[in-house]
Amino acid sequence: MIRLACYLTLAITGTTPRAINKASACLLLAMALSITNAQAELIWHWQDPFSPQEKTRLKHWVSKTAAAVEQTVAPYPFDVHVYFHRMAGKGEPVPWANTRRRPNQAIHFHVDPSYSLQQFLKDWTAPHELSHLLIPYVGQDYSWFAEGFASYLQYRVMHTLGVLTPEQVSQKTHAKISQAQDNYIYHKIPFHYAAQILRESKQYPVYYWGGAAFFQSLDARLQREQSSLVAVLKDYLACCRLQAKNLSNLVATLDRLAPAQVFAPALQAATTEAGFPLWE
Ligand SMILES: [Zn+2]
Repeated sequence: MIRLACYLTLAITGTTPRAINKASACLLLAMALSITNAQAELIWHWQDPFSPQEKTRLKHWVSKTAAAVEQTVAPYPFDVHVYFHRMAGKGEPVPWANTRRRPNQAIHFHVDPSYSLQQFLKDWTAPHELSHLLIPYVGQDYSWFAEGFASYLQYRVMHTLGVLTPEQVSQKTHAKISQAQDNYIYHKIPFHYAAQILRESKQYPVYYWGGAAFFQSLDARLQREQSSLVAVLKDYLACCRLQAKNLSNLVATLDRLAPAQVFAPALQAATTEAGFPLWE
């Protein structure tokens, strides 16, 4: 609507200085509008019966977490479809969750709604799943890349949520990666190939946090260039996320936005150099 009004203003008043001022104001307004539009709408889907109170609590939990992801990194340029399934009796608020990318960007949460809002907010699953959506699906062979990415970001989002201090973020990230490295046994093959074995043998912590080591190292490298992983992602979400197709497109775009070419060489190393990803 605002864009249409701007066109009309220009068409009616011509190109006098006043009209040009008006046009500039319109442009600013349109930019503000498009930024507002970039904020994700969360679309709720209830796959099982939930009471009104449970629905309120679950919506509050995911809304707050999605806002924390957008505050930590950048607004999603699309709506996010959120599906809830009941899964009680597993001893945790979110026993299972996964993302789907077609036909919409979606997350399926399998939840035990008997837990409190605070218990949901202290769980890492929603920060992890919502972080996944910041980049496109990269294919099963490179799911270590996707899992490492989401694992590396999840504690940062939990800091924004107010449930972890910055010290706890560093401490927990360091502890998880160290533990993964200690439990890693495939020293003679590149991590990319070891990751397939880790996935098939369900050694998920080594698989996830080995991938996170890859991103920790990338972030450290970018910080030496006065940038950071989050800084590059901010630009990526703003310009290019909607055009994203696959891993090679993603990596090339991130390298174009970064102050130095770091993503492609790091990925090359993970597929050609033997051992656990080097991290700092
Ligand atoms: Zn994941």
